[in-house]
Amino acid sequence: MIETIAHITDLHLDESYPFNNSVSARKRFDLILKDIEAKNITQIICTGDIGENKGVQYFFKKLKTKTLSLALGNHDKFIEILKYYNHGADYHSQKIYNSVLKKHHKFIFLDSSEGIIDNRQLIWLKKELKYPKPILIFIHHPILGLNLKVDEIGKLKNRDKVLSMLTKTTNKITIYCGHYHTESSLIHKNITQHITPAIAFQVKKSSKKIEIETTTSGYRIIQINKQDISSKIQLLRNAD
Ligand SMILES: [Zn+2]
Repeated sequence: MIETIAHITDLHLDESYPFNNSVSARKRFDLILKDIEAKNITQIICTGDIGENKGVQYFFKKLKTKTLSLALGNHDKFIEILKYYNHGADYHSQKIYNSVLKKHHKFIFLDSSEGIIDNRQLIWLKKELKYPKPILIFIHHPILGLNLKVDEIGKLKNRDKVLSMLTKTTNKITIYCGHYHTESSLIHKNITQHITPAIAFQVKKSSKKIEIETTTSGYRIIQINKQDISSKIQLLRNAD
């Protein structure tokens, strides 16, 4: 049986930037959700930056009939998220991270909400990586670098350390992330990294400046068929 997952990221619901209203980002999320439902996809993985204030409540309300897994982003607050989701909550470090064993794979959800993978989580991750089957990692921040302005200013602080841990394993590792509001796929040694476009707005690919584009929303459809993992981007246009 083929397992289908909708990977969504960077919704930024109810935040003041860039829309300065609670309608625009919610509208984008609603459209994406409609598209996901039209494709009969019930499993959703969100890699963070859900939003602020009532936006968080809105997010969980809209997804309450779905099978939802989360990896927190730098805009997400542990205490807020905990009101709705606590799968893998580490109350000591105030992070949410966990792993799920599937028949042919392992899913690992990391918490990079502080812009770093803390030591406690790194120790846990090292043990989790000792596994004989392919691993899918869901994390807000990319781990492989890109020649982009967003990478210069927003990169995961200890990604070199995380990367060397991942490349030391012999496992095939596929990373799904967001944070940069762009689409990208890269391969490095045993690692394939897919950045999924944001729901809220995109950042144009540039090494010199940050320039945003608010008319396109996106998400990724991941399909897993035994050992094979494939994915494709879905883009939707918004007219405000
Ligand atoms: Zn982010």
